[in-house]
Amino acid sequence: MSKKALITGLTGQDGSYLAELLLVKGYQVFGLVRRSSTSNLERITHLSGDIQIVAGDLLDQSSLMDVIAESQPDEIYNLASQSYVPLSWTQPALTAEYTALGVSRLLESIRRCKPDAKFYQASSSEVFGQPDESPQTERTAFRPRNPYGVAKAYAHWMSVNYRQKYKLYTSCGITYTHESPRRGIEFVFRKITHAAAQIKLGLANELKLGNLEARRDWCYAKDAVYAMWLMLQQDQPNDYIIASGETHSVKELVECAFNCVSLNWQDYVSVDPAFYRPDEPVQLVGCIDKIKTDIGWQPQHSFEQMVELMVDYDLKKLSNSVI
Ligand code: NAP
Repeated sequence: MSKKALITGLTGQDGSYLAELLLVKGYQVFGLVRRSSTSNLERITHLSGDIQIVAGDLLDQSSLMDVIAESQPDEIYNLASQSYVPLSWTQPALTAEYTALGVSRLLESIRRCKPDAKFYQASSSEVFGQPDESPQTERTAFRPRNPYGVAKAYAHWMSVNYRQKYKLYTSCGITYTHESPRRGIEFVFRKITHAAAQIKLGLANELKLGNLEARRDWCYAKDAVYAMWLMLQQDQPNDYIIASGETHSVKELVECAFNCVSLNWQDYVSVDPAFYRPDEPVQLVGCIDKIKTDIGWQPQHSFEQMVELMVDYDLKKLSNSVI
């Protein structure tokens, strides 16, 4: 009999890739989707006949209990959250409701309705905030510096506590930034690859950015979701850093993206201090030794491959919309 998986955050970047992966692996996939007055299924339209969409919301305990009781999933992947750091400063309480308390509601629902389900929690490198060591490992202290990071730290420790107290199978993946053509345009990687394509096609003529020297550990989203699945295939739950293990600057990213469209980035890019992130984390880079050694995961896509495939995607998409 095929395994059953429930994904929260199905309509997001990671949820859509994870659903594709699980379908290929023969799972029956249930996706939790909250009500919206307009359709937000763009990332999963191509899967609509293969997934069972179930209505629920991380804000609503009874909907989570109903969904878990009815679908009886073997694996539950919690990818839903308010995931945009700047918004967490303007909506800190709502961010905590989704990203922190939502996980408490989910864990309680699992404990009551399907205690043998394996649970994956999407933790974030933002829990490290301003870390006191670099690269960070699974033992690095959490020092979150924004409401999103604080909420993710709460969710992480609640998952660990339910593992210890109730013996639930809970594993947390501490993911660093990961990107893809399905990434929201507000995130800097996609903003840059999208702008390079727009400028190439004559649809824009400038790109304003913040600190070009800021460095990030960027990974490809398909590689990250593969790690999530692999984590839940282990006999014992555990927490792992999911990252590329290397950093690149925003300037390197800009150069690479504009090279892909044969343009000189200096002709189009300007620095606007308004885009500087006030809480810029220092040297956030993950050490992936533990996940490599324990379960044999490592990224399959390089930084350059990721930039190229995202620029190509936007060139094709924008060309079609121009025609
Ligand atoms: P995303 O694209 O922003 O997707 C977030 C998902 O959460 C969406 O499907 C959204 O649904 C759903 N959601 C939000 N509030 C909800 C609620 N109250 N009830 C039910 N669903 C709700 O995020 P992502 O990039 O796929 O990231 C997946 C997870 O990894 C998130 O938890 C994120 O915080 C974490 N993470 C991501 C990165 C990264 O670089 N991508 C790095 C570290 C950690 P709607 O479509 O209805 O809004």
